Amino acid sequence: MATITSIHGADVSPPHGPTHARLRQLLEALHAQQHTEQIMQARIVSLQVELDGYRKRLQRLNGLAHQQQRQALTDVLTKLPNRRAWELRLNEALACHRRHGGDLQLAFLDVDHFKRINDDFGHPAGDKALRLIARLLASRLRDSDFLARYGGEEFAILLPNTGREAGYAVLSELCKSIESAPFHVRGRRLRITCSAGLASFSAGESGVDTLRRADQALYRAKRNGRNRLELD
Ligand code: GH3
Ligand code: MG
Ligand code: MG
Repeated sequence: MATITSIHGADVSPPHGPTHARLRQLLEALHAQQHTEQIMQARIVSLQVELDGYRKRLQRLNGLAHQQQRQALTDVLTKLPNRRAWELRLNEALACHRRHGGDLQLAFLDVDHFKRINDDFGHPAGDKALRLIARLLASRLRDSDFLARYGGEEFAILLPNTGREAGYAVLSELCKSIESAPFHVRGRRLRITCSAGLASFSAGESGVDTLRRADQALYRAKRNGRNRLELD
């Protein structure tokens, strides 16, 4: 088909000559640049989506790490802090005590003749009693106190900013509340007692020594007839 070059005498032939060739080149370069920009935009969007995915994955992994850390420091049966958590907290409390001084009490509390509960009523009944005791103790302590399942039927307690007499009163109250708690196994009320030993941290003494003094006080309570609290 013939190219129309003139309408009503006006020249409408396609541009030609060096100027028009340059213009065409620039237009082509512009189109190429626009195309590249579109590709870049699409890439940016896809990278943002990818980045969002990584962020969400990282959040999930962080949550999982937190959960695993919590589990590693929690006793499965009672849901109390476990022995490992106790050691970490004890070191923190000791460092704080060394720096700032103040009153800090440590107590061990051990259920009396717990083996009999297992022997007489079965291990699940023993487990239930431990869970109840843990809940009872936790409910009676302040948020700033620290309670852990030290092992078996023994619990460890830290009482910061608490003097010796106040510590004694707290521990007596805990023992009394366990004794009067309504534990029931197979419809029978069970009286559970415990013995406890309490020691105060002294400046300049190592944590191991305080722990030993509290432990010795606990064993004195056992030797002296159980269901009692002994001060170091
Ligand atoms: P004492 O008054 O001298 O403390 O006597 P006890 O019977 O409480 O102490 P002993 O050390 O002789 O026995 C502790 C028992 O606690 C033995 C063990 O089977 C039981 N025990 C430890 N951990 C658990 C547990 O998680 N669940 C149950 N059901 N029993 C446990
Ligand atoms: Mg015991
Ligand atoms: Mg024990």
